[in-house]
This record gives sequence, C-alpha cells and structure tokens, in this order.
Amino acid sequence: MKFGGTSVADAAAFENVARIVARERAASPVVVVSAMSGVTDALLSATVESIGPIFNRHVATAKQLLQGLELERFADLVKLAEAQVRAALQTQNPSNRKSVQDAVVSFGEILSSALTAAVLNQRGVEARQVDARRCIITDEEHTSAAPLLRETFARIESELRRLLDNGVVPVLGGFIGSTLQGATTTLGRGGSDYTAALIGAALNVDEIQIWTDVTGVLTADPRVVPDAQTIDRLSYSEAAELAYFGAKVLHPKTIQPAIENSIPVRICNSRMPQERGTLVGPQSETSPRTIKAIAHKTGVTIVQITSARMLGAYGFLRALFAVFEQHRTVVDVVTTSEVSVSLSLDEAGALTAIVEDLKQLGTVKIEKGRAIICVVGEGLRGTPGIAGRVFSTISDINVSLISQGASSVNFTFVIEEERVKEAVTRLHEEFLATRRNNECF
Ligand code: ADP
Ligand code: ASP
Ligand code: MG
Repeated sequence: MKFGGTSVADAAAFENVARIVARERAASPVVVVSAMSGVTDALLSATVESIGPIFNRHVATAKQLLQGLELERFADLVKLAEAQVRAALQTQNPSNRKSVQDAVVSFGEILSSALTAAVLNQRGVEARQVDARRCIITDEEHTSAAPLLRETFARIESELRRLLDNGVVPVLGGFIGSTLQGATTTLGRGGSDYTAALIGAALNVDEIQIWTDVTGVLTADPRVVPDAQTIDRLSYSEAAELAYFGAKVLHPKTIQPAIENSIPVRICNSRMPQERGTLVGPQSETSPRTIKAIAHKTGVTIVQITSARMLGAYGFLRALFAVFEQHRTVVDVVTTSEVSVSLSLDEAGALTAIVEDLKQLGTVKIEKGRAIICVVGEGLRGTPGIAGRVFSTISDINVSLISQGASSVNFTFVIEEERVKEAVTRLHEEFLATRRNNECF
C-alpha cells in the first residue's frame, strides 16, 4: 500500500492512512509512503539558512498525532535529521552535488515513514519503520538510480518477511535507496510508486495499491480536463503508455515489476477509500470506443537531423542513437523519412553537446516548447478511422511529428506546447466526454 505526498500532507491525512491500513490488516500489508507533500521540493531548494520550517512542520504534525514516548522519539529523530541535513549541505560542492542532494532529500521519506509507523502503533496496529535504504539497492546514478534487482529482491525478502510473519506492518519510505557501498540514492521524482512495485514483486503480493489524491487513472489529466472520469480497468501496456507519456498518477517504471510477476496494480483515492479506483492487470476491459484515455506532457524538445547520407545507407541510425547514448539522454518518439529523422526528448539538459555531435551526421534543427499527446486504448492499431478523427478534431493545430504502430495501444503526436490544453480538451470531448451516468463504454 503506497501513499503519496498528499496522502500524508498533514495530521488528518496520517490519521486517514492509519484507518485505511488498519482495515487491510488481515491481508498483511507493507506500507510505503512518500515525503509529506511539498517536502521533497523544499529539501531540493533548501539552504542551511532555510531548512528550519521543513522540520518544524514535521514536529507540529507529530504533536497532533502522538503522545508521550512516541512523540519524544519522533522529535529526537527530527532533530537528528535536521542536523544531518545541515551538515550535508555544508559539504556540498560541484563535484558531490548530486550525492549530497540525494542524502538531503531522503530525509523527507525517512521522516514520513517514521511518523506513519508511530501513528499506526499508537492506533493499535503493530508497525515498524524499515529503512528503505537497506532494501532498495541501486547503481550509483545519483538522483535517478536504477535498482539492482537481484540484490534488492533478496534484501526485501530478508528485511520484511520476518516482520510480516509476526503480524507486524513494515513501513518504508519510497523513492530512496542506497548503493552497495551504502551511499544514499533516489529513484527519480515520483519514484515512490516504483518502490512499492519493487516490494510487491519481491514479496509476490496479491495486489500493489497506489493510494493518491484522485480516484484512479482518469481519462485525462484532471488539471486540464476537470470532468475526466475514472477508468475501471487498464491493461499493463495501456497503463505503461499513459504513465510514460505524462499521466503523473503512476511513475513510468511502476508497471514493469508488476508485469513480470503478473501482480495487479490498483490505484485508489485515499480521500475516498470506498471507491474502487482503477485496476491495472494483464487483461483490459474491451472498450468499443477504443480510446480509453489521453495523456500529455509538455516541455518536450524535437531534434531533426537531415542528411543525404542516410539515403540507402546502413549504420546511420546506429551512429545517430550512439550520440544520445553517449550523452545519457532518453529519446521518446522517433519518426524517419528517407533523408531525415525526427525525435523527441523529454530531458534536454545535454542538448548543446548533443547538437555538436549530431552536426557530424547532418543538418540539425531544434524545436523547443513542444508537447506530446498520446491517446491510448487496447486495439487501437486495428481500428480504422481513429487517426482521421483525432486530426479532424484538432485540424487547426499544427502537428509536427506522428507515431503509430510501434505499440498497438497508443497513437502519439507532437504539437506546440501553447495549444496542448485546448487540444486535450477537444479530444476528450470528442472521444470520452459522453461517458457519463454510468453509461457502458
Ligand atoms: P502522489 O503524490 O500520490 O504520488 P501525484 O501528484 O504524483 O500523486 O499523482 C497524482 C496526480 O496525477 C493527480 O492529482 C493528477 O493531477 C495527476 N494526473 C495526471 N494525469 C492523470 C490521469 N490521467 N489520471 C489521474 N491523475 C492524473
Ligand atoms: N517524494 C518524492 C517526490 O516528490 C517521491 C514521490 O513522491 O514519489 O518526487
Ligand atoms: Mg506520484
């Protein structure tokens, strides 16, 4: 059971988590929590002078939840954390920036998990905080570390199984891990979902539950489409595409460990725990309308390389992608013509260096400020007319890159960022908005 930042935002939210966990006690849950909402961002921009309020907030919240020894213990832990963060920030320099950042930011999850365990204990649910850094063992890629699966699975089993067998609820912070040498790492923003999935896979659980502030995966981002509806069921592939192309409700890596062990993933609303939310599993519910959801992501950069050398040549694409590999940059969408390749980048930090290298291969053109829109539905590839309907709905908006066919469940294209809200709203209206009043879809 993973609870996101808003699910542990204040004292009332912690009480609510304790209630939800208590209800599931017979099923031997493992609890994973994010940092209290806003804490990760605050720690990321923290300076030695500015950290006080972050820690005061934890103590103030604990005072509303705990008494006696439990409160004293937690307050001591907060004091220690504050001193450690202060000391770490003082050692920060350009060469250790990312490892210090991981060490600092990890206290968000360390404190929220300690508080959750204490609250559970005071509410009569026997719980124990387990340091996630003993369980999630990663490579050394600070700020976006990848777990070493064999080691991680073995550690999870040995750290958690005994507690579960004794009826104790283990409580871990998500997002954080450590290298084999013991340095603190993090799994990338939003990574607590991934922690939960790794633990679920390692323990071969019946269900991985992601508790958040919306009722499941919705037909579109609710911040853009306020009347977006909960999707009852999604296949693993549908959920993976949505997560990858911007549906923040699930971290993109969450689905992989679930697929490999055929574990269903349920996304629920911690404010409305009685609602069933979305169930992600091997099979999807067939949807006669085919399109189930629309995801989007902004801040995308398009790189276009044009070269006559590509015509009839082999090895060109390999040379091209080697450049991105060298600069450790992920490519999202790719399209090719006879003499040019266009691709989209989500994270363009190394763009200048990439462009320099690409110039060896051909003429390079960059378009910034683009957005990817991805419409998702199992069976989409075999359904005639979808592309026509999509593009006639947004016929006055320029589409700069289209990709379909690589996966049978998605249809992806790129437009200008300024028009993304309008495009998503119109597409939702066209394909999904009439699904109201429990209409069968
Ligand atoms: P948590 O802190 O619980 O991990 P996140 O903020 O990471 O929560 O993810 C939940 C948010 O994802 C929602 O509040 C919503 O604004 C956003 N979101 C974007 N796209 C979707 C979607 N298709 N379905 C549900 N939520 C979405
Ligand atoms: N607290 C981390 C973040 O804000 C991880 C998470 O919430 O999943 O990115
Ligand atoms: Mg999240």
